[in-house]
Amino acid sequence: MKPMGTIPADFAGAPLVIAGRSAEEWVDVAGDTPLFVYDFAAVARRVARFRAAFSGVDLHYAIKANPFAPLLAAMAPLVDGFDVASAGELARVTRLKRGHAISFAGPGKRRDEIEAAIRAGITINLESEGEAARAIAIGDVLGLVPRLAVRVNPEIELRGSGMRMGGRASPFGIDSDRAAALAREVIDSGAEWCGFHIFAGSQALDEQAIIETQAETLALAARLSEQVGVVPPLVNLGGGFGIPYFPGEVPLDIEAIGAALVERLGSLPAGLEGTRFAIELGRWLVGEAGVYLTRVVDRKQSRGETFIVTDGGMNHQLAASGNLGTVVRRNYPVAVATAPAHAPTEVASVVGPLCTPLDRLADHVGIPVAHPGDLIAVFMAGAYGLSASPAGFLGHPAPAEILAGAPDVPNAIFTSPKA
Ligand SMILES: *Cc1c(COP(=O)(O)O)cnc(C)c1O
Repeated sequence: MKPMGTIPADFAGAPLVIAGRSAEEWVDVAGDTPLFVYDFAAVARRVARFRAAFSGVDLHYAIKANPFAPLLAAMAPLVDGFDVASAGELARVTRLKRGHAISFAGPGKRRDEIEAAIRAGITINLESEGEAARAIAIGDVLGLVPRLAVRVNPEIELRGSGMRMGGRASPFGIDSDRAAALAREVIDSGAEWCGFHIFAGSQALDEQAIIETQAETLALAARLSEQVGVVPPLVNLGGGFGIPYFPGEVPLDIEAIGAALVERLGSLPAGLEGTRFAIELGRWLVGEAGVYLTRVVDRKQSRGETFIVTDGGMNHQLAASGNLGTVVRRNYPVAVATAPAHAPTEVASVVGPLCTPLDRLADHVGIPVAHPGDLIAVFMAGAYGLSASPAGFLGHPAPAEILAGAPDVPNAIFTSPKA
């Protein structure tokens, strides 16, 4: 038997209850399996925790973690800003936030994307000198003043993060030793100077590493500010708060991170007096709030092993199959949603319907015995789930998506038009 990650506390009961309803009730709402259910109360609780721990710091949501439209609508009043990474993502949030509260990072912004960003009045986080020149030129042609920030590729690296972004050659941002010169060019061009964006890594579960990275990020921002000679209106400190997907991982103590940051912000160097600070989070806000539900279609034996075959798999939840940026495949938490208890009564592998051995949602895990008709829940499905999965692969219908517990949001249910 191989271990699995811990089922999030929000969903620890058995049989599984999500936002007050059983898994079968959610299937009825969706009309069919597979489906994603996002528990909005779980998201709101995390926002409240952030607010309590990081007083005075802006909270941005990096929407690529989960761009489901009803979720964005429900989050809009709770967060200070949205961070987008394409014109497609921008189109999803332009009606939800004022331009000033939206920023656009990401390499390879096309001319039409830069134009859309300038027209919408959002902040462009510049990824290169070439992009800066294009943005300034496009602003001139449009007769609009572009809002520009410089994304810095720092020498800092976020220790222990699942995805290191700083401290090396990178397609993201401008190397820190050229960032001040570019900021000056932006200011001299007459563009609106918006500040710095410094993102050092993702999926970190070590509070001490995050605290150190934030301190180094602040110091870097202060140095840059001095070199430029203009106080940056905003410094986006990145984020990188991770969540415990795998066995042995422990949730972050964000209160400790907040206490350290708030203390540092209380005694800022002169170059940053009057600067606002933002933290941008994706998975920490929404990852644990999502559950993927898929129906058991078959149960079979092969050479002494048991396979539970479900009607959805890596086509909807690629990350759980271990094929989205992990080196060693480990088990996400899963459960038999329809079983009266989570206690394991057999060892089985849960596999999806795709004709590839990669399509494995759980490998040799201890779970209650599941039969055709039962429902399997895959947890940690709220971030980098459907939108980060190859939904077209093998031609299965799209899954339903449901935002649970956000009464004021229209169209909180997306049901799949079946093929
Ligand atoms: C993806 C991304 C994020 C969000 O990362 P999470 O690990 O989901 O918190 C934040 N900032 C930038 C620049 C990103 O590209």
